[in-house]
Amino acid sequence: MDYNHIPRQSLGYFPTPLIELSRLSNELAGPKIFMKRDDNTGLALGGNKTRKLEFIIGDALAKGADTIITAGAAQSNHCRQTAAAAASLGLECHLVLGGEAPEQVSGNLLLDKIFGCHIHWAGSHRKGEDIPQIVEQLSKAGKNVYVVPYGGSSELGALAFVEAFKELDSQRESMDETFTHIIFASSSGGTQAGLMLGNRMLNSPYQIVGINIDKGETDTVPFDQYTLSLANSTAKLIGADYEFSESDLILNSDYVGDGYGVVGTLENEAIALTAQTEGILLDPVYTGRAMGGLIDMIRTGKIKETDRVLFWHTGGAPALFAYSSDLDMA
Ligand SMILES: *Cc1c(COP(=O)(O)O)cnc(C)c1O
Repeated sequence: MDYNHIPRQSLGYFPTPLIELSRLSNELAGPKIFMKRDDNTGLALGGNKTRKLEFIIGDALAKGADTIITAGAAQSNHCRQTAAAAASLGLECHLVLGGEAPEQVSGNLLLDKIFGCHIHWAGSHRKGEDIPQIVEQLSKAGKNVYVVPYGGSSELGALAFVEAFKELDSQRESMDETFTHIIFASSSGGTQAGLMLGNRMLNSPYQIVGINIDKGETDTVPFDQYTLSLANSTAKLIGADYEFSESDLILNSDYVGDGYGVVGTLENEAIALTAQTEGILLDPVYTGRAMGGLIDMIRTGKIKETDRVLFWHTGGAPALFAYSSDLDMA
C-alpha cells in the first residue's frame, strides 16, 4: 500500500487540532466529545476540501493544467477552497454554480469573487452539466483545463481522508484516548469513503458514521452505492486488498429534514449550543445538521454516556452570513 508516488500540492497547515468539548458534553449530560478541527485547515477559512485539493491539484499540476473548473451550489465550500487554491498557484479558475446569480453577494460566493474566479450560473441545468461545453470553449482558446470532481470526491479526494484518518489516529494515541464513533456530515462521499478505508487499514474498531446531508433526489447513482464504490476504487488505487460491502457503510439519513440547505430547528439549536458552550462556529448546511444529529442521538440514548465520540468539523462557517435570514438567534 504505497502511494508516495501520487503527487501532492501543499495547500493547508496540518495536522489540524484535536480538542475536547467538555462543556458541550456536560450540557448534554452525555459522553466525552472530541472535535477534529478541519475548519482550521488554513486555506481561505478552512474546511475538509483543502485536504482533497492537495491531491487533486497535485494531479492537475502534474498534468500541466493552467486552468481548473469545478461545480457546486452557490454557497459551495468546495468551490471557495478551489478558488483559493487556484489563486495561490496562479491557475485560472472557473466555477459553475447552481441556479441564478442572487441579488445579494455574500458568504462563500463573495469569497469566490474576491479570489477572482470566473463564475458561470447553471440556471435550470443540473450540477456540472455545463462543464463539458465550457471545457471545450476554454480548450479552443488554448487553455489546458483540468476538471476538479464534484465535491472533490474522486479516489484522490478520498485518499486525502485516508491520510486524515492516520493524522487523527496518531493524535488520539498521544492523547491516550479512544473513540467509539467518528461522526461527520456526508454529502459527496469522499470524506466517508476515505475514513472507512483508513479505519480498515489501521484495523481500528470505530464506527464511521456519516450523517447524510442531502436527500439525493437528483443523484443518478444512490448516494450509499456511490460511497461504497468510491471506497472500493480508492482501495484499488493504493493497492489495498479490501472489498467493502453494504454492511460496512453507516449512513444515517434521519436528519435530512426538508433537504439540502434547508435550515430548521435542528441546525439552529446545534449551531447555538456549540457556539454558546464552546465558542465554536458550525455551518448551517453541513456541520450544523451533523451536530444536530449527534445531539439527538445522545438525547435518545443511541449514543451512550460511556461512548467516546469524535465529531469531525468539516468547515463551512463562511455560509453563515448567506443564511442569516434562516438562522433564528433570538
Ligand atoms: C463538502 C462538505 C462536507 C461533505 O464532505 P463530502 O466529502 O463531500 O461528503 C461536509 N461539510 C462541509 C462543511 C463541506 O463543505
